[in-house]
Amino acid sequence: MEKDVSATRPAGLRFPFPQPPGPGEVVAIRDDILWARIPLPYQLDHVNIYFIRDGDGWAVVDTGIQTDDAMAAWEALLRGPLCGERITRVIVTHFHPDHIGLAGWLCARFGAPLLTSLSTYMSCKVVSLARDEGAVTQYFDFYRSHGMSVEVAGIVAIQGNDYLRHVARLPHSYLRLLMSDSLEIGSRSFRVLTCDGHAPEQILLYCEAENLLFAADQVLERITPNISVAAEERDCDPLGHFLRSLRFLRAQLPEDVLILSSHHRPFLGLHQRCKELESHHEERCDRIRRACAIRPHSVAELLPLLFERKLDPHQMSFAFTETLAHVNLLLRRGEIETRPDGNRLVNVPAGSGLAKSGIGS
Ligand SMILES: [Zn+2]
Repeated sequence: MEKDVSATRPAGLRFPFPQPPGPGEVVAIRDDILWARIPLPYQLDHVNIYFIRDGDGWAVVDTGIQTDDAMAAWEALLRGPLCGERITRVIVTHFHPDHIGLAGWLCARFGAPLLTSLSTYMSCKVVSLARDEGAVTQYFDFYRSHGMSVEVAGIVAIQGNDYLRHVARLPHSYLRLLMSDSLEIGSRSFRVLTCDGHAPEQILLYCEAENLLFAADQVLERITPNISVAAEERDCDPLGHFLRSLRFLRAQLPEDVLILSSHHRPFLGLHQRCKELESHHEERCDRIRRACAIRPHSVAELLPLLFERKLDPHQMSFAFTETLAHVNLLLRRGEIETRPDGNRLVNVPAGSGLAKSGIGS
């Protein structure tokens, strides 16, 4: 479920491995660290997975989505460059289907343990358990109140069904990875880092000795990871969490760490990329601030200011919840207020009284 809907420029970043692996191929990043790709049925058509030598086998970081094409890609790897090898551990960075989708399948096939964060494991489990019609109605009403169309609200409210189709059943137990844990894989030692915003408690692995960071979706070379407000956490501030995680990475890790992320190419230039992502979102906050100063705007009315190209209903759902993430950040900062205006919610500058006076409604 990679849901990236906005693109930014990779100026100044360096790409030591410009040629991605083809189907059934691996690229050696270091001795005993391999990069492969698993296809995705989206506009973003791949997810990167990585193999780390782990004794007599390989630990894998992320797994791909549960589709026939993705499983065929795995079979090609296991017949080809990984022929006769075993998977020792399955490490999952976050609960989105393109990362966790085939974890259960791999764990069962190789008798391998699952390693991930509590949030990842529980988020996945909760979606699997929560076939709650009442919740669907509540989600639908929530999105409608912010001006989302009936068509798009219908898609977003039942996203759980799509999720279940693309995620194999998880094992009944797992090993929890926690911020600052030390994780030994083969001869290497990794520090576990967790970042938030794109997904709760997303796992990143940092190998200080070799200056490597498995960065999942937190920092990507060309696209900004989707930051969404979910209906069950409607007042949360995932964008604030995401920006805080970027500042944390800049403060903790060197600029020249090799970033091995989940989409596109490995790159160098962590600090620069973090700053680009930060200013990307700040600039969008600014658009919202300026629009709301002119007249009250619902989230639906703000959306085209942030996402200018035409979106299909699926992309629209991600764009909508990401627009809401920007609104919630500005609410938390005390810069705007959300107020009822008839049967919808609109946003106005804090303390302006614009909605009450009915201006622009
Ligand atoms: Zn993701």
